[in-house]
Amino acid sequence: MQFLDTINIALKLSTRIPFYFRSQKWSPKRLENYQDLMLQRLVRHAGKNVPYYRNLFKTIGFDTGTFMNRGDMKKIPILDKETLRTHQEEFIADNADKYGISWDTTSGTTGTPLKMIIDHSTRANYYAALLRSYNWAGYFFGKKSFGAKSYFFKTGKVHFKRLLNNYRLDSNKLNEKAGIEAIAFLNRVKPKFYHGYPFSLLTLAQFALNKGIAMHLPDSIIVYGETLSDRRRELLESIYGCKVFDFYSLHECSAMISDCNNNKKHFIEDFAFHEVVDNEDNVLDNGCEGQLIGTSFYNYGMPLLRYRIGDTVVMDDNPFQCKCGRPFRIVNKIIGRQNDYIETADGKLIGNVLEHTIDNANGVIMSQIVQDRMNHVYINVVIDDSFNDNSGAQIMKAFRKRVGDEMEIDIKVVTELEKTAAGKTQFLMSKLGHKYI
Ligand SMILES: [Zn+2]
Repeated sequence: MQFLDTINIALKLSTRIPFYFRSQKWSPKRLENYQDLMLQRLVRHAGKNVPYYRNLFKTIGFDTGTFMNRGDMKKIPILDKETLRTHQEEFIADNADKYGISWDTTSGTTGTPLKMIIDHSTRANYYAALLRSYNWAGYFFGKKSFGAKSYFFKTGKVHFKRLLNNYRLDSNKLNEKAGIEAIAFLNRVKPKFYHGYPFSLLTLAQFALNKGIAMHLPDSIIVYGETLSDRRRELLESIYGCKVFDFYSLHECSAMISDCNNNKKHFIEDFAFHEVVDNEDNVLDNGCEGQLIGTSFYNYGMPLLRYRIGDTVVMDDNPFQCKCGRPFRIVNKIIGRQNDYIETADGKLIGNVLEHTIDNANGVIMSQIVQDRMNHVYINVVIDDSFNDNSGAQIMKAFRKRVGDEMEIDIKVVTELEKTAAGKTQFLMSKLGHKYI
């Protein structure tokens, strides 16, 4: 990112942080009015400046001048990842430059590669909303913290980010040796707040338990990046002796869900508009389970309206009954992806963040990584005409960066992905027969 972009985002952030700390005190009615206004502006912008929506609205005869509030959202068809993948360029606004743009890559539940423009306003809103959620978990800017996630460092040593007072361990390099060193380091510097992938933090604790080493315990933990099962939450809370908060978001910025300090999950509804639908795309009421559909309010550079995220959520019967008093609806459960882990000969376990390694390959519709031996994996890819030798080379290069040089890797072009014995299509499948937490 360019220096000027960083300055621009920082300036926006300085106004958005106070906004998010104010809006959490709004009444549900005031929040609803805000959402309706944001949706109206966004839909009108999309109909005017975004080629995909200009064409779509013409085809379905939808006049954005008649869009008044959320009730009109159902006139817009739900957007699937495959439509976005095959029409990416058409989603970029004609005037996208005006909003400040930078490319981001991501992939969905089944590894569908996407290129996204996340504009400056979205980045600033994302960080501000995230900082507020972290604040619910006891974090404030500058608090001494430790993070265990994919940082792409060259080694498994703990790095220090001075500006954020944050110690960092690359989860891709986490094996027993790196883990024991990191624990000794954390015992010296004593961070008060931990964040990272649930599985990485559990693995770290496991190393300490195996060696009988005492661990410094933080005041609280936020986890993200993987589905937090009840079992993992219980384990983390008992081992680290503190409360664990779950934070859910995605690169497309179409949704955000966060645990509050009263043990409830909330849709972050001043950041995005969340809908839950059944299999026929009918919007469901409170208390129902269905697919999560999200619309970011702020991404004018590349707006996605009613984006099907690929995860399922269960809404609460009484959406505003949380004692924290915030105007955001309660989510009972996120039924997200479940994956196995890829194991390397030197004892690393690598989780679903590997999805990003296939992101940049042209022509990959869906993908899946299967480990059948300790030093061998194969990558199943469902492809279209634009897949070529270079796509394969891109996948290999990015994948090797994560798993190291020892692993043998094959790419298999398939017509459909493999399923587990339980009939699930997982992005990461292990046939080694090991049990993971
Ligand atoms: Zn709450």
